[in-house]
Formats: sequence, C-alpha cells, structure tokens
Amino acid sequence: MTDRCEYKQKGCGGCPLLGKAYAEQLTQKQRRVEKLLGKFGPVEPILGMETPWHYRNKAIATFGTDPRGRLILGIYARGTHRVVPVQGCRLQNESLNQVMEAVLAAAKACRWTAYDEDKGTGLVRHVLLRHSRTTGQVLVTLVTPTPQLPGSRNFITRLRALAPQVSGVVQNLNPRRTSAVLGTQEKLLWGRPAVKDTLCGQEFLISSRSFYQVNPVQTERLYALALNAAALTGKERVVDAYCGIGTIGLCAAPHAGQVAGVELNPEAARDAAANARRNGAANARFYQEDATQWLTRQAAEGQKADVIFLDPPRAGSTPEFLRAAAAMRPSRMVYVSCDPATQARDLELLTRLGYRMERAWPVDLFPHTEHVETVCLLSKLHAKQHIEIDLSMDELDLTAAESKATYDEIKAYVLEKYGLKVSSLYISQVKRKCGLDVGQNYNLSKKEDAKVPQCPPEKEAAIVEALKYFKMIV
Ligand code: SAH
Repeated sequence: MTDRCEYKQKGCGGCPLLGKAYAEQLTQKQRRVEKLLGKFGPVEPILGMETPWHYRNKAIATFGTDPRGRLILGIYARGTHRVVPVQGCRLQNESLNQVMEAVLAAAKACRWTAYDEDKGTGLVRHVLLRHSRTTGQVLVTLVTPTPQLPGSRNFITRLRALAPQVSGVVQNLNPRRTSAVLGTQEKLLWGRPAVKDTLCGQEFLISSRSFYQVNPVQTERLYALALNAAALTGKERVVDAYCGIGTIGLCAAPHAGQVAGVELNPEAARDAAANARRNGAANARFYQEDATQWLTRQAAEGQKADVIFLDPPRAGSTPEFLRAAAAMRPSRMVYVSCDPATQARDLELLTRLGYRMERAWPVDLFPHTEHVETVCLLSKLHAKQHIEIDLSMDELDLTAAESKATYDEIKAYVLEKYGLKVSSLYISQVKRKCGLDVGQNYNLSKKEDAKVPQCPPEKEAAIVEALKYFKMIV
C-alpha cells in the first residue's frame, strides 16, 4: 500500500501522518503517551493495527459545486470552505466509499444543488454514513438546511439500486451556520434509523447522532483491555460514565452485579437503554444527564461503587466529577481517554485523591492521524499508603490541583495545536493577565527601565486557549 494520497496534496487534513511508516507512527504515539503518563506508572507497548487501512465505520462528506457548476461530494480543504471532491478514501471502509459514490450519483440524477453558505441557497449540505461490520448495512443521513427535499423518493430508489447495502435513509435538518455537521431534528425517509453492530459479543443499535467508536477492530481490543483491567467477579457495582450508547457498561454487565451508565447526549442515552433491553441486561440502567452533575448527586447521597469506568470526550473530565468519583470509594477506576494530555491532567488530581495509576495501555484507534487512545487502570491506595484519603473531600485543596498544568505542558500544547513556540515569560504574562498566580517573577523587570518583551497577541490567544484547555481558567 503506497503512503501517498492525492487528496492530501489537495488539502484534505484527514491523515496528517500519512507518509510516515506505520511503525514510526506507533513509536511517535508511544513516546507521547510515555511522556505524559509515564510519571504516573508503567506504560505498556502500544497496540497497533495489522492492516491500518479502511478501518473507519463512519464517513462524513460535504456537498459542493465544481467550477463547471456540477455537484460534487468531498471534504473542505484545510482552513477553507472550498470542497475538494474525494473518491475512495483509504481510511474509510470500502463499502462506505461505494455508498458515497452512489449518494452523489443519485443526488445528481435528482438535480439536487449544494447548499451555499454565503447565499443561503441549495438543497443538501452534508452526508453522514455509518457502516455495520456485523451486518454490512449502511445508514445514510442527509443533512439539509430546510425541511424541503423534493424528489427524495426518487433519490432513495436510485440509491438502493446502486448500493443495496443501504438499510436506512434519514434526513437531518441543520439550518444553522455552524461548523457542526448535524442539527437536532431528524426524519426517517426510508428503512431503519439505526445500524446494528456487535462488539465483544453484545449487540448495539447506533443511530446517526450517537457517538460510536469509528474503528471497530481496535475498539474491541480497547474494551477487552478495559474489562480485563476492571477484573470483575460478578458482584460489583459498576459506573459507566460518558457511556455513549452503553458499549463499555453493557460489555461489563454480564460480569458485574449492577451497572449504571450516564450520558449527556439524549439520542445516545436512548440507544443505551434500548441496547440494554436488546442484550437482556436487566442489571444495567442508563441515565441522560451531565456526568458531573449525576455523579456528584450519587456521591452526596452516599452511594458507593466498586468500579468506575470513565471515557470522557477530548476535553477530559472535571475536577468535580473526579472528586465525586473518589468519594464513592471504588477500589478501581478504569479511565479510557482519547487525549492523553487531558488524561494526564485528570490523573494528577486523582493521584491527590488517593488513586494510583497501576498501568496504561495505548491503543492505536486512529492510524495515520495524530490521535491515540489510552486505557489507564487506577487503584485506591490504602489509608496507610495515602493519608489524605481519609480527609473529608471538601478539605482537599482542589484549586491547587486544578491549576497544575506546568509551563512545559502549556508550551507543548501550544506548539502541537498552533505550531507556535512560547516562552515561560510569555506564559507568565498571560497567566498574570488572567488573574492566575505566577509563582516566579518572570515578567517583572528588576530594573525600572529594563525592556521586557511583551507577548504578541497571536501567542497570547494560543496561551489563553491552553489555559482553558487545562481548565485553569474558564
Ligand atoms: N464510552 C463510549 C463513549 C465515549 S465518547 C464509547 O466507548 O463508545 C464520550 C461520550 O461522552 C460521548 O458519547 C459524549 O456524548 C459524552 N459526553 C460528553 N460530555 C458529557 C457530559 N458532560 N456528561 C456526560 N456525557 C458526556
């Protein structure tokens, strides 16, 4: 398989590491995880893919118009709103590539026009596809700016003839001028509104707006690691926080006493409850709420847990969530993360709350991209080893723990995200501006008239973003 892709040259930002040998990509990710998590405990060698291609079960494309006025389907060129037509993406499942072509052909036959953001005209904006590895079926979601979609029956007939694996077509209404692909209202045009997939022997229904891991092969390995780490015996009270459609909790349910899952997204929470019924998991309950609010209430009511799984989005968890989790005194926490930087920030606090990272396992869920997934097992230290645990939780100085991102972490973040190098001096200037304690008098000149370089606005904005990211400011 060649490491070149014509679309990368044309501005597709989907595979920033394409061109680097896969083994090297894995080494790079391993180093990154070790750098961030190594100080908390041992990091196992990363689990890579045997064949790191066509792994994605989800595809998103945007409708556009080529210079000759013809409808195209592709991706926005990096940093622009110009659509580059893409055919045959090498990360997506081959069946999705085929359906994508069929969607374009059927849309053209119906003379549909692409939505134009500036003029506010056009019928179709984006298309989202989901593929089931188990059944081979594909769910098509068409995103439109208005409820009108003339010729949709004709579209469906043509699409099904070209791509018989399509099992459902949903229309999603997104009238807003945002970068979010999906809006909140949906209508089923034909077939079934969800695809069915199997993971770790459990069946899941996934609707268009629910979160579902995009790499099913590696996800199974990830969940196997997480479940193994939890070492369930059949009796435990388990929490699955940020549970999505309930995947981790339902894989745990047959090995646990009871499972409670919490998820913010209403569709995902509904899918989770349906999935519990589908798998006959009578010991699992799912709640739709902010995970922090829900867990804080549980802790305040004196509820206890034996094992807490948490799998938050990239921004990581919150200090309040972590505090509530520790107050429920689980003997183990299994923290699954798609961003080791925020995970490291959260581990810092969990360490202060009396938990120790026993081991971390990096898993490559996203070959050819910079992302890496990690599972961390944390266990509760006994009072002898960790005196603080018996203090009242309110007495712990959480503000100190929250503002723990070091200058090096801020520098690394700004460099990685914005490609900008910033000095400690600049960071301290911005921290001071944001009302944060600086500790060292970096930015105070010793002499009255000495010239101190001032942080330029572009770097200031990047540092402010980093401070927000590390939850040092809001
Ligand atoms: N554990 C699931 C989902 C992980 S992705 C899986 O493996 O598939 C993170 C999930 O957290 C998403 O489903 C997202 O909707 C949810 N989420 C984001 N913010 C949340 C919050 N504040 N409270 C609860 N869930 C949240």
